[in-house]
Amino acid sequence: MPGYDAIVIGVGGMGSSTLYHLARRGLKVLGLEQFEIPHELGSSHGYSRMIRYTLQEHPSYVPLVKRAYELWHELEQNINETLVVTTGSVRAGPPDSDFYRGAIESCDLHQIPYEILNNTEVNRRFPGYQFPDDISSVYQPDGGFVLPEMCIVGHAQAAEEAGATIHTGETVLGWEIQNDSVSIRTNHEVYSAARLVVTAGAWAAKLVPNVATYAIPERQVLGWFQPERPELFTPERFPVFGIWTEEGRYYGFPNYSVPGFKIGKSHHLFQKVDPDTMDREVRPEDEEVLRRFTSRYFPLAAGELLDRKTCIYTNTPDEQFMIGVLPGQPQVSVAAGFSGHGFKFASVIGEIMADLAQNGVTSHDIELFRLDRFDR
Ligand SMILES: Cc1cc2nc3c(=O)[nH]c(=O)nc-3n(C[C@H](O)[C@H](O)[C@H](O)COP(=O)(O)OP(=O)(O)OC[C@H]3O[C@@H](n4cnc5c(N)ncnc54)[C@H](O)[C@@H]3O)c2cc1C
Repeated sequence: MPGYDAIVIGVGGMGSSTLYHLARRGLKVLGLEQFEIPHELGSSHGYSRMIRYTLQEHPSYVPLVKRAYELWHELEQNINETLVVTTGSVRAGPPDSDFYRGAIESCDLHQIPYEILNNTEVNRRFPGYQFPDDISSVYQPDGGFVLPEMCIVGHAQAAEEAGATIHTGETVLGWEIQNDSVSIRTNHEVYSAARLVVTAGAWAAKLVPNVATYAIPERQVLGWFQPERPELFTPERFPVFGIWTEEGRYYGFPNYSVPGFKIGKSHHLFQKVDPDTMDREVRPEDEEVLRRFTSRYFPLAAGELLDRKTCIYTNTPDEQFMIGVLPGQPQVSVAAGFSGHGFKFASVIGEIMADLAQNGVTSHDIELFRLDRFDR
């Protein structure tokens, strides 16, 4: 008999949520994490992750984010902590850009309310913004951010309370199918489980050959600048934003946890990396990428750099997720390749992964994320 009903590799954003759902369904589960919970070496740190209905990535993410919101609020009640901060969200870009139009399309298709604001209107309403006149904005009042470290700890704690076992400082070195179960070898031990779930973030390619060529880690950098007028950059007065500009695609958050305006550029310097050897220092050229943009679009926030962090995206070729049961290996399922926009969904991804481990299928629509789509 296998020792566990399911083992989850990686207790980060997706893994902590998967453990939570499996444990609450009464399964005997073990989560294996190579570092601590939480930690700053993966993809889920930096105090805030945007959550929004304006999903220009694809309209079929909208039902998932609806369920994600429900599950975040359920977890907030279970652990008696705030996990979601509502600020409103702005998606902005030239009116003919796919980024801007896609945000509108996803709302229209799913009857999500929003407002269109030109640059004068957006700058007047949110005076921390100073967008130029070729930029249009979609404002959606329900957007905001989730607190990633708190979400991970909350899921892990509630999973433990429901009976899950979690080991930290334990690295999975390999796994193999043995008859109906899976044998999992770590730096400490060999375990067996009826089902294996791999939620290893930037390390997924090292553990699952099926995603190795398609889930590529990329170095990212986050910066927190001191605003000249901090009162304009509070969660009450400053909606989270994503913007498509000639300088690239940037996103930002109000002051929260760090007394500074948080800013990042998607794909930063386009550096593909190995997560075990990535340069984790923030260099002057990294700061320059963030400062140049801030000075132009948010000049009242372009003061001292108060904090800085590196982080990792795990990109797929079409920037959609990879989720499913491995073809021909029904004992193993994987969730990987979140391409810089996965955290908001972590609560529902855990539910999906628990469905796949328990039943091999889920009622959520995950067709967009098929593991075999690049091979077909
Ligand atoms: C800078 C930045 C900004 C982002 N902004 C947003 C945003 O605003 N909104 C949004 O929705 N998403 C955002 N994302 C994306 C989102 O954060 C990620 O999609 C999400 O955190 C991925 O979660 P994960 O569980 O796959 O990875 P992680 O949380 O990194 O978890 C993977 C875990 O697996 C562990 N692990 C790996 N290999 C092993 C092994 N062999 N043995 C044991 N443990 C192992 C790792 O240590 C790690 O803890 C952003 C990402 C970055 C980097």
